[in-house]
Amino acid sequence: MKRETRLIHTGRAAAQSGLVNAAIARASTILAESTAELYAPSDGRKTYGRGGMEPAGQLGQVLAELYQADHVALAPSGLASVVLAIRAAVIAPGEALVPDSVYKPVRAFCDAELPRLGVTPIYYDPRAGADIEALVTDRTVLILLESPGSLTFEVQDIAAITSIARERSIATVIDDTWSAGVLMNPLDLGVDYAAQSLTKYAGGHSDLLMGSVAARGGAAKQVEACARLNGLHVSPDDCFLVLRGLRTLTLRLERSGANGLELARRLEDHPKIARVLHPALESHPDHELYKRQFSGCAGCFSVILDGIGPREGEAIADSLHLFGIGFSWGGFESLVLPCDRQLVRTAVPWQAEGALVRFSTGLEAVDDLWADIEQALDA
Ligand SMILES: *Cc1c(COP(=O)(O)O)cnc(C)c1O
Repeated sequence: MKRETRLIHTGRAAAQSGLVNAAIARASTILAESTAELYAPSDGRKTYGRGGMEPAGQLGQVLAELYQADHVALAPSGLASVVLAIRAAVIAPGEALVPDSVYKPVRAFCDAELPRLGVTPIYYDPRAGADIEALVTDRTVLILLESPGSLTFEVQDIAAITSIARERSIATVIDDTWSAGVLMNPLDLGVDYAAQSLTKYAGGHSDLLMGSVAARGGAAKQVEACARLNGLHVSPDDCFLVLRGLRTLTLRLERSGANGLELARRLEDHPKIARVLHPALESHPDHELYKRQFSGCAGCFSVILDGIGPREGEAIADSLHLFGIGFSWGGFESLVLPCDRQLVRTAVPWQAEGALVRFSTGLEAVDDLWADIEQALDA
């Protein structure tokens, strides 16, 4: 069956009494018939809520189906899922290669927490591809990827990097939030751990935080153990919402992506725009790589204003009406985010003709979104 069908029909067997959707079980304590039953449950029964109450199991099943993974661990936020994947992947002290375009809170984790694990973060050009080999040493224990970068949209050559990593038994972790596990499958490209912020497209309604890590083989066992040993737990109510979101994921992603690409095309021709950073545009420097790796695009991209500085860029964002000003993306509603205040680069200096502004396109009619952008740019 095709993925659209599998996303509708997987993980529903446990629904009771003819209900289409999962039942929610809330529990910390789970009573047993006897002490013997508590310490050695028959039929793999859960004995405590931290093991994950339904529908966490169904959610894990659907995500495992999406990634064709052996195990998917859930984490209380997208950031926590990237951290979980890193913790599962790092089994010895050494060095971690981190893309310069990495999501800023992940960078903060790498700078503050990796050294406590005996690991030194070394930032690399996200466009390095096979040239990453020059940075690999005997001490390299981890290569982190994020593709495309979620502010600046560099596409990484995942297969080139994972083939170098596999040759040397270096673990790889990717932040796969942009593809939502739908537009690409990093596990098929040789990545060991695929983390995703489910807060974005999977949740899809800007009303929860959650993350997941998908893996196969030994990495699957490793991430399952790491989540358990670290005591990670997610609320069954939030699992219900993400599971519901997954049923409509492909449809929402398609509409959001189409809206974004249409706006990106129109913005490319606007005199106040120097560059549109959208990998599905032919003008994007990584377009060929994008076409090889992705089956379509998400509705999140950036523009560089032409000779218009960060302050004025913020004024333009402030004068939009349909685009809310806020962090995150992948919801049903459109968002705008002036980005210059949060850009950090240490490997490759950021160079641009003007302010960097990110758009996340929701499910509105594209002509209404365009009219809003036009009036804001004119103002
Ligand atoms: C939002 C985001 C995260 C973090 O997700 P939260 O659920 O907000 O913690 C991680 N990576 C990327 C690329 C994101 O956009």
